Amino acid sequence: MALQTTGRYLRLVKAKQTGYTNCRPACGNACRMLNSMEQITNAGVKIALRKTSLVDFPGKIASVLFFAGCGLRCPWCHNRELVLTEAAAAPADVQSAASEMLIGPDDALSHIKKRRNVLGGVVLSGGEPTLYRDLPVMIRRIKEIGLSVKLDTNGMNPDMLKKLFETTETAPDYIAMDLKLAPHRYGEIAPNAKKAEDSLRKSAELIRNSGIKHEYRTLALPNITENDIAALAGLTDGAPWYVRAFRPGSCLDPSWNGFDASTEQAIGMLADKIRALGKNGMAGGL
Ligand code: SF4
Repeated sequence: MALQTTGRYLRLVKAKQTGYTNCRPACGNACRMLNSMEQITNAGVKIALRKTSLVDFPGKIASVLFFAGCGLRCPWCHNRELVLTEAAAAPADVQSAASEMLIGPDDALSHIKKRRNVLGGVVLSGGEPTLYRDLPVMIRRIKEIGLSVKLDTNGMNPDMLKKLFETTETAPDYIAMDLKLAPHRYGEIAPNAKKAEDSLRKSAELIRNSGIKHEYRTLALPNITENDIAALAGLTDGAPWYVRAFRPGSCLDPSWNGFDASTEQAIGMLADKIRALGKNGMAGGL
């Protein structure tokens, strides 16, 4: 008993010195306790929650967290409420819709915890989830719950990807990276073309070298060409590269609603081009 008390005391002293607190006397996992106590930033961070999805995480039933905010402004984007919600100039209808649908990170985690028995994973999507400063903590928390994590990214934040890949606790289990247009055309959707191109290249390299299962995703946009595919191919490895349909209807730039939806033929031609370049092109995908 005395020994146990001494042991507990020493553990608590060590905990105090190192920042670990609330360690149980018999617990050998002080680090895990610390991890679960890491504070998550809620202020200003908004997330839309899809409680259950059968199509967003390959092979898993998943919840999807859509983080508000994005550094790009793709005119074809269908996530208007998420992308514009942080902008002071967001139209009133967007602000209203966003305030009804968005919750904070702690609430999102509570929902996930409650559904842990029916879920296999959680998809972090957007907007752009890598803009969230505490994404490493969030991923660690989700993994502590026992769920896998898929990250959807536009590749504009390689610094965050590097940080996530530093430990297995914060590394996603699966990544889907968007490849939108040829790297030199990112100025059409980003405020700083050079920075966007550099970020895209760095992110692609990090993902290629990460050892994490991944896929690439490209929309068959009305203005994409085989030259774009050829320019993007150098960023990819043999992972699946899905070509998906562009659909008008609720585009960020309303003028894009005037374009026709992609035809199967257009999607097939781009996928063929990808395969002709020796890559793993496929029509469709999630
Ligand atoms: S990167 Fe995605 S969320 Fe951001 S504007 Fe483009 S399509 Fe929308």
